[in-house]
Amino acid sequence: MENLGFYNGEYDLIENMKIPMNDRVCYFGDGVYDATYSRNHKIFALDEHIDRFYNSAELLSIKMPYTKNEFKDLLQEMVKKVDSGEQFVYWQVTRGTGMRNHAFLGDEVKANVWILLTPRAIKDMSKKVKLITLEDTRFLHCNIKTLNLLPNVIAAQKTEEAGCDEAIFHRGDRVTECSHSNVSIIKNGVFRTAPTDNLILPGIARAHIIKMCERFNIPVDETPFTLKELMEADEVIVTSSGQFCMSACEVDGVPVGGKAAEIVKNLQAALLEEFLEQTK
Ligand code: PLP
Repeated sequence: MENLGFYNGEYDLIENMKIPMNDRVCYFGDGVYDATYSRNHKIFALDEHIDRFYNSAELLSIKMPYTKNEFKDLLQEMVKKVDSGEQFVYWQVTRGTGMRNHAFLGDEVKANVWILLTPRAIKDMSKKVKLITLEDTRFLHCNIKTLNLLPNVIAAQKTEEAGCDEAIFHRGDRVTECSHSNVSIIKNGVFRTAPTDNLILPGIARAHIIKMCERFNIPVDETPFTLKELMEADEVIVTSSGQFCMSACEVDGVPVGGKAAEIVKNLQAALLEEFLEQTK
């Protein structure tokens, strides 16, 4: 199959799937998601994504209808059914189906599981990215990967209109993360990245790059940094599951980074090697 959708046990091409109007995600965005990539029909970093997914669901008291192992088996079976081995593997759980009412539905209502597989490869990391900055107007639970993504959607649109690749969010002076990735800097040989508090999503690619820094004896500083520090950094790094480590050449039209290219190249090579090894 060219792509594949799954909803509570029903399978079809994504464009043929039909979802109940009363799925609470339609009214409230009441659900959580996670996503990664596959290569050779093998899913990268699945355990970490599943752990984060179950944690997001638990933080919102959404009861998962599958155990972690059952869910992993389901995803692994599904990626084998799609023609391309290189897929964007996306899944979400929503609180359930019921007449519109803000408070949770009764305990007897089961959560809905969605899975979407589309052919897509990870990005070429040699390309430099252009970024814009935007005030972070999201709520205070950004550690939960919820389906309430309107500020991220608006940011992505502004990014596209500016001819850029990502938007950096900041709360006042403090840089938090990007609209759908994490942002870090390298300064004087130190990798600096915001702490995993409630203001950012604990990115899996972020965790992997930290691990690589440790392997290369690059000190890691998990303290918040400011917009000024970002503009003056030796490198500005954007990380996410589809683009493990992209370095920026421009923020708000001003040239940035490019002063620690060797470190970036080594990190990119190591991250790509890890991906290729796990999915061979
Ligand atoms: N931050 C936000 C807001 C995101 O939406 C994402 C990915 O979707 C990330 C960070 C990066 O997370 P990961 O590295 O797990 O893909």
